[in-house]
Amino acid sequence: MRVSACGICRTDLHVIEGELAPKKDLVIPGHQIVGTIDRLGAGATKYAPGTRVGIPWLHKTCGKCPYCRSGRENLCDAPEFTGYTVDGGYAEYVVAPEGFVYPIPDGFDDLQAAPLLCAGIIGFRCLRVSGIGRNGNLGIYGFGAAGHVCIQVARHWGSNVFVCTREEKHRRLARELGAAWCGGAMEQPPVKLDAAIIFAPAGELVPAALEALGKGGVLVLGGIHMSPIPSFPYPLIYQERSIRSVANNTREDGHAFMRIAAEIPIHTEVQIFSLEEANAALKALKHDGIRGAAVLAISPRN
Ligand SMILES: [Zn+2]
Ligand SMILES: [Zn+2]
Repeated sequence: MRVSACGICRTDLHVIEGELAPKKDLVIPGHQIVGTIDRLGAGATKYAPGTRVGIPWLHKTCGKCPYCRSGRENLCDAPEFTGYTVDGGYAEYVVAPEGFVYPIPDGFDDLQAAPLLCAGIIGFRCLRVSGIGRNGNLGIYGFGAAGHVCIQVARHWGSNVFVCTREEKHRRLARELGAAWCGGAMEQPPVKLDAAIIFAPAGELVPAALEALGKGGVLVLGGIHMSPIPSFPYPLIYQERSIRSVANNTREDGHAFMRIAAEIPIHTEVQIFSLEEANAALKALKHDGIRGAAVLAISPRN
C-alpha cells in the first residue's frame, strides 16, 4: 500500500519508549494507516489496486487458537501487530494481509480517516464492553484521540457524557462535542456513572473513577499500558462494580465501527504533521499538546 496518512497513537510512544517489551529491532511505528493499494501479493484477490484502505493495529491473527475460534481474535495467542511486531505506517509504503484491512468509507478524507483506525475502533470496543446505552451516564477519563471519537458515538447512542481531564483545551473540545459536564482528572462528576472508560495511561485514576460509579457500574480500561494502580478500599468496588480491560479489537469491531462512523458521521479533529516532524508530533502527544488526534501527512490524495 502506498501510504497517504498515518495517525499517531499513544501506543506508538509506549513502543518507542520501551513500556511495551520490544518485539522487533528498528521497528517502524504507526498503526492507523490510510492509503491506496499499490500492488497485490501472490494470491491476494480481495481488493483491486487503487482501492483506498486502512491498516489498523491488529495486523494478523493465527486463526487456530481457542480465542480465534471463539470469536475473540483480539485475544489471539499468536497475534501480529502493525508498527510493533511488524513495520508500520511512518513510511511511504507498507505491506498488510488483505483479510485485515478495511475499506475507508467515502466522506472521510485520508487525514481525517486515519484516527478512526485505532483511536476510533478501540474507543468503540470500550463503549461496547461498557454496556452503556440510551440515557446512560458515561464517564470518559482522558480526552485525546480516542476520547474525542468515543464521545461522538456515545452521544449518537443517546448517552450523557461526563469528561474528566486535566487539560483545559481538552475540556473545551469535550464541551464542543456535547459533554454534559467537564472537570479535572480526579474530580467527581455531579451524578453517579453507569460506566466509565479510562483512556489516560494513569493507574491513579482507577480509584477516582470507581468512586464515581453507581452500583453495578462498569469501569473499562482502554489502554495497552497503564502506570501501577494504587490499592483502594473494598467498598469502592463492592455493590457489583467491575473493572475490565480492553485488548486490541476483532475485525468485527472494526467493520461495525466503520459503518457507524460513516452513519453519524464522526468528525475527527486532526493536527497535521509531516513525516519528518514525527518526533515533534510524538513529543507533543507525550506532553498533552495535541487537540484531537495527531496525523502524519505522507502523501495524501486530498
Ligand atoms: Zn493505537
Ligand atoms: Zn489465534
